Amino acid sequence: MESNHYDVIIIGGGPAGLTSGIYLSRAKTKTLILDQGTIGGQVVLTHEIANYPGIESISGYQLAKTMRKQAKKFGCDIRSNIKISSLELKGEIKKIVVNDKDKYTAPVVILSTGGKSRPLNVPGEIEFAGKGISYCATCDGDFFQDKEIIVVGGGNSALEEAVSLTQYASKVTIVHQFDHFQAYPHAIDEVKNNPKIDFIMESEITEFYGNESLQRVKIEHQGTHETNEMKIDGVFIFIGYIPQTKFIDDQVKLNERQEIIVDKDFQTNIEGVFAAGDSIEKKYRQITTATADGTIAALNAIEYINSKK
Ligand SMILES: Cc1cc2nc3c(=O)[nH]c(=O)nc-3n(C[C@H](O)[C@H](O)[C@H](O)COP(=O)(O)OP(=O)(O)OC[C@H]3O[C@@H](n4cnc5c(N)ncnc54)[C@H](O)[C@@H]3O)c2cc1C
Repeated sequence: MESNHYDVIIIGGGPAGLTSGIYLSRAKTKTLILDQGTIGGQVVLTHEIANYPGIESISGYQLAKTMRKQAKKFGCDIRSNIKISSLELKGEIKKIVVNDKDKYTAPVVILSTGGKSRPLNVPGEIEFAGKGISYCATCDGDFFQDKEIIVVGGGNSALEEAVSLTQYASKVTIVHQFDHFQAYPHAIDEVKNNPKIDFIMESEITEFYGNESLQRVKIEHQGTHETNEMKIDGVFIFIGYIPQTKFIDDQVKLNERQEIIVDKDFQTNIEGVFAAGDSIEKKYRQITTATADGTIAALNAIEYINSKK
């Protein structure tokens, strides 16, 4: 087994990991980014980004490609499409085995593996994701000016996002599987008092239809199993978030939602293990927040390495 030693190994090459890679490599810190997929993370899936400061509009693919190029320019090593076979985060030197054969070691690891919105898992969802179906109101709300949309979900996120989407949409219908919401009373009051918001309770979307983009949904009542079709311009799904932290195997402290707990320096409960981006415990998940986390984790990692010299 070949062994390679680095100053820092970053697991996850989305905006958080790539930003850490840029800062670390530019500071002449020998850095490796490992990613199980394509470098760029969720950004690659994003058709248009219109809220990254300094860039009025850019495709997610182009932004990710530029971030990757920037990290490589400063000397960051990058390996994509790998599988982590084993991970040992405790101890002074962290050990990572990739694809059952390549061993990497470093005194510092940054975990930046992001997450995924929980999907409904019904026909048409994958086909129309980004073509009428969205999982992010902050990212896509603006594309639905004066349109009629559905919000799926009944927790705090769904209700808060439904209210925020009324600033764009002409009508928001909340579709929820139960006969009551699982949100704070003030969030429930807000949706109930908003004249633009309507409700379809005890119901689920069971299919999405359209041509180039989403046009209709099938909605099934959970009690009677009666189905109806509804014409709609967009659907926002807020039924939970899955941080990609399973592979950590409880080595670092996670909260009940499986998000990584970090301190103010973005260090986990294990010395030398930092975390950044969408996989950590936080409220807002955006490219700007991920890059900010990646910056802070990288700068603290450098300080940590220097303190050990
Ligand atoms: C459809 C969509 C549209 C969006 N639009 C916008 C927008 O317009 N503006 C905005 O600011 N934000 C937007 N977001 C949110 C934004 O993309 C995320 O907040 C941001 O990408 C988070 O960055 P991250 O680096 O923390 O994680 P991610 O982007 O999730 O990257 C994590 C990386 O880690 C890798 N990884 C995961 N597990 C492992 C593992 N076990 N081993 C190795 N690698 C692993 C993944 O392959 C991935 O490349 C959007 C998100 C989605 C899904």
